Amino acid sequence: MKNPMIMTPGPTGVRENVRFARAIETTNPDLDGRFYDFYKETCEKIAKMLKTKNEVRVLSGEGILGLEAACASLTEKGDRVLIIENGIFGEGFADFVKLYGGDPFFFRGDRKHKINVEELKKFLDKDSDFKYATVVHCDTPSGMLNDIDEICPLLKERGILTVVDSVAAMGGEDINVDEWKIDIALGGSQKCISAPPGLTLVSISEAAFKAMESRKTPIASFYCNLLAWKTYYEDKWFPYTPPISDIVGLKVAVENLLEDSDIILRHDKIASATRAAVVYAGLDLYIKDGFSNTVTVIQVPHGIDDKKVRDYMVNNYNVMIAGSFGYLEGRVFRIGHMGEGARIEKVSYALFALQKSLEHYGVKFNHDMSKTFLEKF
Ligand SMILES: *Cc1c(COP(=O)(O)O)cnc(C)c1O
Repeated sequence: MKNPMIMTPGPTGVRENVRFARAIETTNPDLDGRFYDFYKETCEKIAKMLKTKNEVRVLSGEGILGLEAACASLTEKGDRVLIIENGIFGEGFADFVKLYGGDPFFFRGDRKHKINVEELKKFLDKDSDFKYATVVHCDTPSGMLNDIDEICPLLKERGILTVVDSVAAMGGEDINVDEWKIDIALGGSQKCISAPPGLTLVSISEAAFKAMESRKTPIASFYCNLLAWKTYYEDKWFPYTPPISDIVGLKVAVENLLEDSDIILRHDKIASATRAAVVYAGLDLYIKDGFSNTVTVIQVPHGIDDKKVRDYMVNNYNVMIAGSFGYLEGRVFRIGHMGEGARIEKVSYALFALQKSLEHYGVKFNHDMSKTFLEKF
C-alpha cells in the first residue's frame, strides 16, 4: 500500500535525502572522535536556524523530552514557576513543574485569542517573583501562535528565565532566540524540521546553565538533565549513546531548511491563502487571532463526524490530515502545512480532498477551496 500524503501538524513528510542519509554506515558515536565534531556541527546549524549564540543540544527523545528536561533541570522544590497558557501544551507545562516539586502559577489566556501582552504586563506588575516562565510558541491543537518576541523580553526585564516550546513553530515561523531573549528554546525533529520523530532540539542560554549550576539540590533526573550535556565536547563524553542515524538524518533536514531561503515567507503565504480559502468556502476557523503559519485549524461542521471524514480522505484521496485532542477532540480538523507540507501543490490537494470528503457527507460549499487557495497564494 502506498503511504498517504502526510498533511498533519507533525509528524510531517520526510524528504528523500533525509531518509537516505539515515542509511549510511554508522560508527561508535561514543568512541569515534569524528562524531563529536559531527554532532557539534549539527548543533551549530540548528543555532544558525534559531539565530542564537547559545549552546544547542540534540537529545534522544521526541519533543516532549525537551519540555520535561527544561522543567527537570530548572525546578527545585518550592520554586515558583509561571505557566503562561492559552492551549493544551501551554497548560501541560504545569504537570512537569509539579513532577519536579515546583509550584506552578497560571497566567491564563483566552483559548481563542493569542496571549494578551498588555494583560500579562499588568499581571507581572503585581507579581513577578518567578524563577522561570513557560510559554508555547505555536500551541498546535488549536493552531495558536503567541507573540513570544514580546512576551519573553517582558519576562526577562523582570528577571524571569524564559522557556519556550517552539516544537511546532521552529523552522516554519520566524524565531530569533537571542533578540527575543529565550533562555531555553525547544524543538522536535518531526514538525517543521521534517525529519522522523525521535529527537529534541534545545538551545540553552548561559543564564539557564547558571541557574542549573547554582541549584541547592541535584537535578532529579538522569535522562532529563540538561546540565549533563554542557561540556560533552571538551570531555568527549555523551551522557548516553546518541542515536547516530537519527542525528545524521536531522543534519540533512536542517540543511534543507537553511538552503530554502524563502521558507518562512512560503509558510506565511500558504497559511493565509489556506485561511482565505476555508472562510470563503463557508467553513469556520477555530481561533479568532494568533493564526499560526504552520497549522490551520478548522471547525468541524455541525453534525459531521471528523474521524469518518478523515478516514474517507485517506481511503479515497490518500491524504492524511489530523483531528485534535483534549477539549478539541471531534471539534476541529487540522491541516499541517509545515516543513515538507508547506508546498502549494500539497496544500491545494489537501483542500480539494477535504472538500470532496465533506461533500460526500452532505456539507454544501459556496466556493471551491483549492481554487481559492491557488488564486490567493
Ligand atoms: C508536537 C508537539 C510537542 C511534542 O508532542 P507530541 O504530541 O509527543 O508529538 C510538544 N509541543 C508542541 C507545541 C507540539 O506541537
